[in-house]
Amino acid sequence: MDAHNISADLTKVLLTEEQILERVSELAAEVQRDYEGKDLLLVGVLKGATVLMSDFTRAMDRHIETEWMAVSSYGSGTKSSGVVRILKDLDKDIAGRNVLVVEDILDSGLTLSWLLSNLESRGAGSVEVLTLLRKPEAVKVEITPRYIGFDIPNEFVVGYGLDYAERYRNLREIGVLAPHVYS
Ligand code: IMP
Ligand code: MG
Repeated sequence: MDAHNISADLTKVLLTEEQILERVSELAAEVQRDYEGKDLLLVGVLKGATVLMSDFTRAMDRHIETEWMAVSSYGSGTKSSGVVRILKDLDKDIAGRNVLVVEDILDSGLTLSWLLSNLESRGAGSVEVLTLLRKPEAVKVEITPRYIGFDIPNEFVVGYGLDYAERYRNLREIGVLAPHVYS
């Protein structure tokens, strides 16, 4: 891999930086409307949602609070293991709060369905989900995110926070990795 030109490791760009930012501000406007006059606590799922969270929160003109959770379901491969572990928990009690979970991608939904019941069991006032990307597999699970950025094909994508073995999170666009990267 050429460490100085990581975009060259993509076979195709699925979403350009411009497309992503435009959609993120649309979502921010929608959330701002829906939560008008209400408390809003955003729970970002580390590490994939960091880039999204940064653009999404700055596209809003209202008070918000931000919390982070880290859960693990993938390891360094590209297939969901179904095993969820809390690596970093919330710093705060969320009882009675309006929680909006901010996720990078919804694939098998295993991570998210586990996370949602976990947050609901803590007595949150409401728990909704915003995901930037949704893969076709996700329609099989009973999670309906209130906010979805883009429906994408069933391919492994990287960039804008999404990684392959912890790399590529800093790509500005979202794309499909070239096969030579895996081998
Ligand atoms: P799920 O449990 O199968 O829905 O997967 C959830 C997590 O797997 C996401 O939050 C991502 O961290 C990771 N993931 C799923 N698909 C992709 C992908 O295409 N690229 C990078 N990470 C992914
Ligand atoms: Mg993630």
